[in-house]
Amino acid sequence: MVSQILSLAAKAKADIESATTSEAIDDIIKGFLGKNGGLGEILKGIKDLPDDQKKLVGPEANKQKDALLSFAEQKKSALAEAALTAALETSTFDPTMPGKKNLNLEQLGGLSPFTRMADKAVRVFEKLGFAVWDGGDIVNDFENFGALNFPDDHPAREMHDTFYVEQGYLLRTHTSTLQYHILKTKDFPIRAIVPGKCFRNEATDARHEAIFTQLEGIVVDTNITVTHLIATLELFLKEIFEEDVKTRIRPGYFPFVEPGLELEIHCLVCHGSGCRLCKGLGWIEVMPCGMIHPNVLKNAGVDPEKYSGFAFGFGLSRLTQLKYAIADCRLMYADDPKFLGQFQ
Ligand SMILES: [Zn+2]
Repeated sequence: MVSQILSLAAKAKADIESATTSEAIDDIIKGFLGKNGGLGEILKGIKDLPDDQKKLVGPEANKQKDALLSFAEQKKSALAEAALTAALETSTFDPTMPGKKNLNLEQLGGLSPFTRMADKAVRVFEKLGFAVWDGGDIVNDFENFGALNFPDDHPAREMHDTFYVEQGYLLRTHTSTLQYHILKTKDFPIRAIVPGKCFRNEATDARHEAIFTQLEGIVVDTNITVTHLIATLELFLKEIFEEDVKTRIRPGYFPFVEPGLELEIHCLVCHGSGCRLCKGLGWIEVMPCGMIHPNVLKNAGVDPEKYSGFAFGFGLSRLTQLKYAIADCRLMYADDPKFLGQFQ
């Protein structure tokens, strides 16, 4: 039986020697180890051998197997190296050619105002100790609604014109879909933001797009109050706009917060006298926010008697519009170099 193993190994080695692709080598190895005429078949017969033979066959089989596998690897890397050399020889790319001179740096492009705002917003929250979370665009109904205290058939679901996909999945209508997962970590104090794309089936106009980027944040710990919420958001706005921003709070309704609030800022375009952006009101809603509803905490297994927290969310394009006084948000996605060039 040992001689059978040796002759199998010698044949496989010779085949590998003459193989020209690594796929062919893999096939030879498969055949050598296989149960049809290969090592596998020989090993099946070991149990019927006398004891002294058994002691010889097992170790010899392993020795031949290891030797052949390492030979196959060597041959494969030799083949790969030869292929690379051949490719380099036929390539017309000349790495010694000098680079292009007189490159016009202005033609290189730059970041859109929207991207600048997104980066800046994330940096401000990172400075305040917030972790940045990311998640999928397609989520299930529970993550988007159920966990956030939108009961089935609740009219609040109508506020979100939702794109449904198949089998109970949908395109997330807000980045609050991660709240449940963040709360489940119970890694207190929780300070997290989730920037990301959201999808709502709405007609586009100067302030709305069917795809928009939202940044949502939550803070949860013991003794968190609405004072923390207001102070955090005012500090954030001051950093973003690089000036003191006048704010006011109004009540608002969102199923996942109680009380729900709307943070408004004094219009930075018209300074209160009224313009198209603020619809002539002088104030603009920028952030829905509020104290996280006890049901949302309970859904994630957090005790609302012990912990409290706040949540906020805002559309990044709205802030970008305010910061750069852009009247129509569609301009930011239109890729018009004349428009984008102003911000470089
Ligand atoms: Zn205004």
